[in-house]
Amino acid sequence: MSHWIVWGSVFILGIIIGSFLTVCIHRVPNGRSIVAPRSACPQCGAQIGWYDNIPLLSFLWLKGRCRVCKDSIPVRYPVIELVNGLGYLLVVWRFGFAWDTVVYAGLFSVFWVVTWIDWDHKIIPDVITLPGIVFGFLCGALILTTGWVNSLLGILVGGGFLLGLAWISPYVFGKEGMGGGDIKFLAMIGAFLGWQQAILTLMVASVVGAVIGIGLLAAKVLKKGQYIPFGPYLALGALIAMIWGIDIWNWYFRGLV
Ligand SMILES: [Zn+2]
Repeated sequence: MSHWIVWGSVFILGIIIGSFLTVCIHRVPNGRSIVAPRSACPQCGAQIGWYDNIPLLSFLWLKGRCRVCKDSIPVRYPVIELVNGLGYLLVVWRFGFAWDTVVYAGLFSVFWVVTWIDWDHKIIPDVITLPGIVFGFLCGALILTTGWVNSLLGILVGGGFLLGLAWISPYVFGKEGMGGGDIKFLAMIGAFLGWQQAILTLMVASVVGAVIGIGLLAAKVLKKGQYIPFGPYLALGALIAMIWGIDIWNWYFRGLV
């Protein structure tokens, strides 16, 4: 019984914060405040009352339409909330109840926001990644098992790797392959998770990105020259590194000796 209350609370916290993330995704790239003004319908401008702003449920009882103008609410809103709720369950399932868990849950939300902003605008805002690098180092040094040395190496390896790639890619691939936002994002990931996980993140992101990119080109969903931003792949790689990275590294090195 109490078991279900605990898991239920984690999920509800996740979707409430997920609801806040939809605001961040919408406003951060435009440099707008994420606290004021209150949310309004983008179509008719009507303010959204608290009773119509309840994560997941409001979407269901409004049947996906604005109460005032009946314009449809994008399905991405409840999806963003739901995934954030499930993400928090995953983090608590993996790490239990500890300070680490709070950091990892926050990190999950950052990955999720970056995924959508990069998808929409093909940018990863400095306002997320630069404070993220500093905060990641503090968390890595003081809260997480990462440790400050590993965290510092994570910033250097994560940032340095992509910086090198960005520098050579115009010569190798003919045009800019890696944006500055990706570099700072991977440096931030390295700050939180350490240098090993930064490398794992980049490996997973590259492989998944290549497979999906080639698949979409072959299926002609993407035309030549069109591309999917790298941020969502980095976020996926970082999620895998955060949840299973230590297991993957142990397994890999046991295989070598
Ligand atoms: Zn409306």
